[in-house]
Amino acid sequence: MSNSSILQSIQQIASDLANIEFLFSASELSDYGSDYTEDLFFPPTAVCFPASTQEVSAIMQRCYAHNVPVFTRGAGTGLSGACLPVSAGLVLSTKKLNRIVDIDVKNLTVTTETGVVNGVLKAAVEAVGLYYPPDPASQGSCSIGGNLAHGAGGPRAVKYGITRDYVLNLEVVLPNGDVIWTGANTLKNSTGFSLTHLMVGSEGMLGIITQAVLKLIPKPTHELLLVASFANLHDCASAVNAVLLSKYKPCAIELMEKSGVEISMVATQSTFPTHPEAEAYLLFAFDGFDGDDLFLQAEGIFGILDTYNALDILPSPNADTANAWWKVRRAIGETVKQVSPYKEEDTIVPRSAMPGLLLKVKEIGGKYGFQSVCYGHAGDGNLHVNILKNNLSDSQWTVEIPKAIVEIFEYCKSVGGTISGEHGIGLVQASYLSIVMGESHYQLFRGIKATFDPKGLLNPGKWLD
Ligand SMILES: Cc1cc2nc3c(=O)[nH]c(=O)nc-3n(C[C@H](O)[C@H](O)[C@H](O)COP(=O)(O)OP(=O)(O)OC[C@H]3O[C@@H](n4cnc5c(N)ncnc54)[C@H](O)[C@@H]3O)c2cc1C
Repeated sequence: MSNSSILQSIQQIASDLANIEFLFSASELSDYGSDYTEDLFFPPTAVCFPASTQEVSAIMQRCYAHNVPVFTRGAGTGLSGACLPVSAGLVLSTKKLNRIVDIDVKNLTVTTETGVVNGVLKAAVEAVGLYYPPDPASQGSCSIGGNLAHGAGGPRAVKYGITRDYVLNLEVVLPNGDVIWTGANTLKNSTGFSLTHLMVGSEGMLGIITQAVLKLIPKPTHELLLVASFANLHDCASAVNAVLLSKYKPCAIELMEKSGVEISMVATQSTFPTHPEAEAYLLFAFDGFDGDDLFLQAEGIFGILDTYNALDILPSPNADTANAWWKVRRAIGETVKQVSPYKEEDTIVPRSAMPGLLLKVKEIGGKYGFQSVCYGHAGDGNLHVNILKNNLSDSQWTVEIPKAIVEIFEYCKSVGGTISGEHGIGLVQASYLSIVMGESHYQLFRGIKATFDPKGLLNPGKWLD
């Protein structure tokens, strides 16, 4: 279909569904042409804002009939370009699917529309003493739908797991407009294939998730942070597994290279316990219901960190300091990117392979002449590698750096890891997927896609195409 006939079809749909907000003017559309991935920009043909499942269904029925491609957009904080409208079509924003439908205290669940922001959902359940642990660093802006569609993680995954571990049941609008619930609101379900878990990580390619039933737990009442500084990256990364092998159970272990901390401190105007000789830091969080126990746990890991030559180990003296340290950690990704054009890789390896991965990234950086800033969820073996362009020429950037990325990913594969832990494949990792997936995988993926979306209308132009 030509771009102009797609536009005409969307105009027809908008006039049929006059109660739903549609945008067509170029100035309004430009906000929907990018996300947080590099500097990519694909202005959409039009954007719509359904406010209920029924409205999503009505839009999809018509798009299906008119063969209009649809790109679902949550909050647009994705880091793989997964929501971007890379060809003519309709961006379907979930912004107005913003109601928390029910907090079921007795069954420890919440039913929510998927445009709800992660941090808003967290605050709502915490107000009744409950807790939704998945906490991407973007929690202040990312949507629950985006978290589901990417299988998002967060620092607390070390103790609590990731988004996938909290999903019980999903309401999904299929490409033809049919509406299904994928499972049941139960803790166990052995009734057919798990469509629920197939939807998690489906990146807007199989259906539009309109509601989710999520598991909750009682809210921990206390949290304690600890920052340890190290003179070398290998010691820093090696200490992570040693702590996890002990009887002490942190809820988060985050690794940060010195340069990332320094950039983030300046940008956020926040304090952090730096050390003049430190090359890298580990931030540990402990949470629970007994403040004294947390203190004992934190103290317990001092000896382990000393074995790995920690320069300094400092517990947070109060909540304000802890918040400042978290702020520095959460802002690293975003602030490092303001320094230079960048490519962010979301490498993940079995935890014990993390020290080797860090050294490998630096070795490959030396070979190709790039600076990298590494940070991330060390407790999960999930290392974000920000490759900075700095003074590299355009041809080095576009021709040589992809080769370096292939080498990094091949190393991840060789130690049992893969190319994305939580950011997804989307657009920018599509060309690397074959490093870890063979033709049999692609055939299965294509078969699943064709079953859900026989016309190929949902999120075309991404890794499956
Ligand atoms: C500063 C910063 C820190 C970050 N930290 C983390 C982190 O710690 N952990 C982590 O996992 N990620 C992190 N991210 C990445 C990003 O925030 C997550 O991937 C998040 O889950 C994306 O949510 P979103 O609402 O912005 O989705 P979008 O970017 O809008 O969309 C992402 C994908 O989800 C699909 N989608 C969105 N909503 C739906 C829906 N309702 N139904 C079907 N498909 C849908 C889209 O089509 C697209 O494929 C970070 C990003 C930034 C900018």
